[in-house]
Amino acid sequence: MGSFILSQRGKEKFIHEGYLYIFDKTSVDGVTQFWRCERRRVCKARVRVLNGNIIKTINIHSHEASASKIEADRVITKLKCRAAETVEATSQLINECVVNISKACQGSLPTHDALRKLVRRKRNRIHYTPANPINLETLIIPDCYKDYDVLKNQKKCTCAIESMVMWRQ
Ligand SMILES: [Zn+2]
Repeated sequence: MGSFILSQRGKEKFIHEGYLYIFDKTSVDGVTQFWRCERRRVCKARVRVLNGNIIKTINIHSHEASASKIEADRVITKLKCRAAETVEATSQLINECVVNISKACQGSLPTHDALRKLVRRKRNRIHYTPANPINLETLIIPDCYKDYDVLKNQKKCTCAIESMVMWRQ
């Protein structure tokens, strides 16, 4: 899904994955729109858009995506780090990461829903470690560290517990 932004001159532009497009024409049936890369002198890329979604791409870009794409990638990296390192609520976390970003960067970012999924996926992969045990009886080993056969794979077991301890520190 791309998004529409207004240029400084008030012209509408379509932005997708760091590439900016200028409006070309509406299809004969009046349903879809044709947009062409804003660097049309050097690039022949075009897209066909329906309700903000690209339904067809024609030609590939002859150049790199814009700085906004790079900025957006940076936001995503930050988001993933915070997801791993904090216990902030998902919405709060996303808001903190997207604050003060440019309009063009917003256009290069995935939707809010997609960002939420990204945070959740990242957190699921890490698995929260339970509270510190008081004694051996209360030591809880998370399921993700139990996927081994202790007798057959002593070494892996030790590694798993070591990584658990590392994570806690
Ligand atoms: Zn292009």
